[in-house]
Amino acid sequence: MLIKTTIFKLFIFFLIIPFIIFSQKSKDTEIWEPIPKEVYSSSDSAPPNDAIILFDGSDLSKWTAKWSNKESGWQINEDGSVTVVLDGSGGIKTKESFGSVQLHIEWKTSEDTSHKNQKRSNSGVFLQNRYEIQILDSYKSPTYVNGQAGSVYKQYIPLVNSTRKPGEWQSYDIIFDAPKFNSQGNKIKSGYFTVFHNGILIHNHVEILGTTQNVGPPKNIAHGDAPISLQNHCCSQVSFRNIWVRKL
Ligand code: MG
Repeated sequence: MLIKTTIFKLFIFFLIIPFIIFSQKSKDTEIWEPIPKEVYSSSDSAPPNDAIILFDGSDLSKWTAKWSNKESGWQINEDGSVTVVLDGSGGIKTKESFGSVQLHIEWKTSEDTSHKNQKRSNSGVFLQNRYEIQILDSYKSPTYVNGQAGSVYKQYIPLVNSTRKPGEWQSYDIIFDAPKFNSQGNKIKSGYFTVFHNGILIHNHVEILGTTQNVGPPKNIAHGDAPISLQNHCCSQVSFRNIWVRKL
């Protein structure tokens, strides 16, 4: 019996195991299709060739005023940027609606630092017109940290404060995974944000809790694709340039 068991073990060890190991091939775990689409970009901030250009410095033809759907009164500058006009006309929103996207946007806060806290170049990037990544001058300018630059407003504090000095151009690269709702109006999948501020990770796949309310808890009212909007808050100016988006 002992001899039989030993022979069996040797059989397993010298024949079966090597057979299993050597019958596995690298090719078994290779995936060749579908082949990822080739996409090119000439620099880190230049739009890839499959991006939708939302603002290239020439006009705001892809945008309307946020509340009236009329042409926006924001000021186009000779350097290819656009500046918020603080005339009470509100923010701007894209004419096109979007679901999940990769968004690149560059922005600059005002060198006028006479205002403090939330009044210092407050704006924001709203995905689906509801979920705000805060824009603010947070360079050595204290405010509540879940409302500082880069915060998912009132939901997530940025991992670090990457804010540059007033008057210097900065960037956000936002990966937005849109929430989903069923026909009964219930949220069946949360949305998520991953965000880079000036190339530095400040949110790593955080779950969006609902709308980014200034007052009260987040709300989860069913919606579909919706515009990207830029906030006109107060009280010192903010400028934008080089805005592009890729649908995901
Ligand atoms: Mg804001």
